[in-house]
Amino acid sequence: MIREHLEQTRQNIDRACRRAGRGTQEVGLIAVSKTKPVPLLQEAYEAGVRDFGENRVQELVEKYEALPKDIRWHMIGHLQRNKVKYLVGKVYLIHSVDSLRLARELQREAEKRQTEVNILVEVNVAGEKSKFGGSREETLQLVREIALLPSVHIQGLMTVAPYVEDPEANRVIFANLRQLAVDIKQENIDNVNMHVLSMGMTGDYQVAVEEGATYVRVGTGIFGNRSYEGETI
Ligand SMILES: *Cc1c(COP(=O)(O)O)cnc(C)c1O
Repeated sequence: MIREHLEQTRQNIDRACRRAGRGTQEVGLIAVSKTKPVPLLQEAYEAGVRDFGENRVQELVEKYEALPKDIRWHMIGHLQRNKVKYLVGKVYLIHSVDSLRLARELQREAEKRQTEVNILVEVNVAGEKSKFGGSREETLQLVREIALLPSVHIQGLMTVAPYVEDPEANRVIFANLRQLAVDIKQENIDNVNMHVLSMGMTGDYQVAVEEGATYVRVGTGIFGNRSYEGETI
């Protein structure tokens, strides 16, 4: 079942790329495997998935230990500073950096381990107070400050759009995130890249691809419904 879901998802991404005049290789598919057991991830791995997204540090680390080492692990959930030490060295990209304090903790840990950390800055382009991530102006300021940390490298931006019935309703959010990345790029800040845009989930990833996503994060569309209620991001 996972194999068919993956095929369908990849096909949808291909079609969205074609509609937007983009190349399929420009868009990475992250299989969001939070709450799913290791054998299901193994199945996805065997179907060719190498990018997995998790939103809890402990779960990511457990799965990291259990699965092949050529997997790229993406931390997509809110990250607490006291968990940073478990993550650095295992994670490929942290999508959810929303504060200077968190970035500084990443710097400390990276320095200690003599390694580098790649991150995205999480932006709340929708302006919803309940979600993590800052506004436009706050984002530019945050980017400037994080850029000064020598072992932390900003690769782009990430956003979590609200759940909507009609994915078209989120198009403006994705377009805003892309525009913000263009604006930040024009500032030519040292140690800042803006080539990654992580946006789009099961309900709206096709619209996100049309609007320039370079990573989409698809959970339900690959693994089926998650088995708990009241999920928080
Ligand atoms: C859970 C989650 C996803 C995947 O959501 P689906 O609707 O199941 O595709 C994507 N991004 C983030 C940040 C998530 O927490």
